Amino acid sequence: MQEELQDKCGVVGIHCEDTSKNVSHFVYYCLYALQHRGQESAGIATFNPEKGLNYYCGMGLITDVFKGYEIDNLSGNIGIGHVRYSTTGQSLLENSQPFVTDFDGGFIAMAHNGDIVNSSILREELKDEGCEFKSNTDSEVICYLLKKEYQNNKDIIESIENISKKLVGSYGLTIIVNGELYAVRDPAGIKPLAIAEKNDSYIVASESVAFDVINANFIRDINPGEVVYFKNNEINSHMLEIAKDTPLYHCMFEYVYFARPDSIIDGINVYQTRLNIGKQLYKQYPIDADIIIPVPDSSIPAAIGYSRASGIPYGEGLIKNRYVGRTFIMPTQEERELSVRLKLNPIKEVIKDKRIILIDDSIVRGTTSKSLIELVKEAEPAEIHFLVGCPPVISPCYYGVAMATKNELIAANYNVEEIRQQLDIDSLGYISLESLVKAIEMPYEDLCLGCLTECYPTELPKNIEAQSYYKP
Ligand code: SF4
Repeated sequence: MQEELQDKCGVVGIHCEDTSKNVSHFVYYCLYALQHRGQESAGIATFNPEKGLNYYCGMGLITDVFKGYEIDNLSGNIGIGHVRYSTTGQSLLENSQPFVTDFDGGFIAMAHNGDIVNSSILREELKDEGCEFKSNTDSEVICYLLKKEYQNNKDIIESIENISKKLVGSYGLTIIVNGELYAVRDPAGIKPLAIAEKNDSYIVASESVAFDVINANFIRDINPGEVVYFKNNEINSHMLEIAKDTPLYHCMFEYVYFARPDSIIDGINVYQTRLNIGKQLYKQYPIDADIIIPVPDSSIPAAIGYSRASGIPYGEGLIKNRYVGRTFIMPTQEERELSVRLKLNPIKEVIKDKRIILIDDSIVRGTTSKSLIELVKEAEPAEIHFLVGCPPVISPCYYGVAMATKNELIAANYNVEEIRQQLDIDSLGYISLESLVKAIEMPYEDLCLGCLTECYPTELPKNIEAQSYYKP
């Protein structure tokens, strides 16, 4: 039950061969399925061969931003969409996406998932060349770099090739340039991106759940470092030069927490991974207990996995209020504790006098876990054993996950026994790095584990600041 850790953004792109059709409703439904990736703002841009570019962005959930006529007004057979949670740049309308910029009578519209770690340096260089920024996001930096390159060479593939040599970080991009859709995945494959088809359309999205909602057929993941575009009703592919020398670094947190369990990312079923996490937790911590209780929703598969492996019954001891959206940043500790109560309520009859194993997906700052344990204690369990499906987070993420600064990360400052004492519980166990990698069923060397090991996929500029979800 994380509110300490947020991914930034989901992206969608749709290319329909039939120029008389409108794709905006399909973009909307795909974004709807990706809402868990960002709830601060949403936007759609479409291209109509006769009317040109249309776009609309707003703050809030996709249903707050698009109430009906806004989508109907977005005509065109090519469309991109974006849901945003901010890491780089504040939560403001001018930072919402897709970004749109015009040049030489044409335009670029772009939706970005990820973080560019050298964006401040690139931004200063662009400013020195006279570039005026509308927002303070790294996504706009990519957009202007692309615009600059394209103005020079009028070749979009060459332009993407050139900017990929400058960009350091993670990116899943959907781009409309003069009526064509392009999708680009960063060379390390940190952020996910996949393709599907439906009738005469191709769909690109951050997660495969976006395809399921419109009944499109998954084709494949976009390869790390691949540029995909669509011509003559075919998928065209270009591999970036830089990808040849870049090892893979798929973000492990997609499997642990961010992605929906019904998604398949880079060939790995997220639900199965979370079941495996529960089984691995049982191997590491075969605890004698009466009931396994998940912290809903993201920990449910891991709790089922532990229950199946151990034979100990699975039970719903915490009920989630499914109508609580993102809680705003609460200024006082008392209010922050209240945010846990708003989301979860324990069932005393399930918990009272039982030896419970509580399973959560991760602990970041530890404040949510403390409030959670206090809440569970009110239901008077006999024992609390707390198992965590992610190894200790000891270092920040710089690739699009707003978690905390190093000072705020509890495992960066205390060992497991000290954290157990702070939580005041009978036992605390984190999944080991080795067991997590086994659960994901992907080679260790293909995963980004930077926030667990401090070995990051890219070089980091000096004085880079970690993004913290918690901004007092
Ligand atoms: S540092 Fe952690 S959260 Fe960030 S991309 Fe790597 S594994 Fe994912």
